[in-house]
Amino acid sequence: MSSSPAERKLAIQAPAKINYYLRILGKRPDGYHELDSLMIKLELADDLVLRRRSTAGIEVRCPGKEVPTGPANLVYQAAAAFFAHCRLDPALEITLTKRIPVAAGLGGGSSDAAAVLRGLDQLYGTGLGLEQLQALARPLGADVPFFVQPEPAARARGIGEQLTPVPVPAGVNWIVLVNPGFGVSTKWVYDNFPLTKQSDPANFTGSSAAEALPPHNDLEAVTLAGYPELATIRRQLLAAGASAALMSGSGPTMFAVFAEEPAARACAAGMARQYRKVYVTRPCWGVVKR
Ligand code: ATP
Repeated sequence: MSSSPAERKLAIQAPAKINYYLRILGKRPDGYHELDSLMIKLELADDLVLRRRSTAGIEVRCPGKEVPTGPANLVYQAAAAFFAHCRLDPALEITLTKRIPVAAGLGGGSSDAAAVLRGLDQLYGTGLGLEQLQALARPLGADVPFFVQPEPAARARGIGEQLTPVPVPAGVNWIVLVNPGFGVSTKWVYDNFPLTKQSDPANFTGSSAAEALPPHNDLEAVTLAGYPELATIRRQLLAAGASAALMSGSGPTMFAVFAEEPAARACAAGMARQYRKVYVTRPCWGVVKR
């Protein structure tokens, strides 16, 4: 049965995330870090178009070429994993429009990969369901399972794969993101994180999932030591009236929390005089499909 053109193409968005709370609990013998994090999806998103075609293979197009377009791109890896799992011959074109800053602590690549998994399941009518999609997501990266699950906010434990949906914390209505314009390698940050209780799994316990968490990020100790201008950005955000200002993930993007839109917009306007990549966004209430 041949598909109609409408069924052969799917546009999907891949939201950014912030880590409202991030604690590193230890390092496992296999080298992965155990963490406890509260992640929130944002309306700031990359755009993807998945198109089935007759030519064999997976082609990734990324206008602007900020990221690799071959097998190094996480969207390529996600598509390859999907086709292998479903025993389908790959014949796909992925057009990726990056809006989320790259290597920014905002999870852009992971979110793109999750969007591809969900999108292909829909496009090919494979009905994999959340459990199988998560099994494909886990090897792609620690944050990919969070983006595969549909909830806007979740506590992530283990190496990011143990997920519990949670409400977006009260007062987190508007988010100002300030990206200083350079990327930071996630690996560098984790490699430099000073672990005091490295490898004893008995220590791998975070706070209870029901507990209200304060904004916090253990990784700031590493990234802010390497890039002191981030502390300046934090001071500026707090001076502009943010209820909290901290780094997302391994950085370097700093985010500020506001309850009201006018205060967020005024803060962003001020920051935009000094920094090129400033965004006003909100928690995202689900992955938007168009
Ligand atoms: P995280 O918060 O999950 O650590 P990040 O936001 O810091 O991620 P990404 O933007 O996901 O980092 O990109 C990290 C690296 O991955 C980049 O250097 C880039 O070359 C590579 N990469 C591969 N695929 C993608 C993609 N689809 N989008 C962005 N970067 C990608």
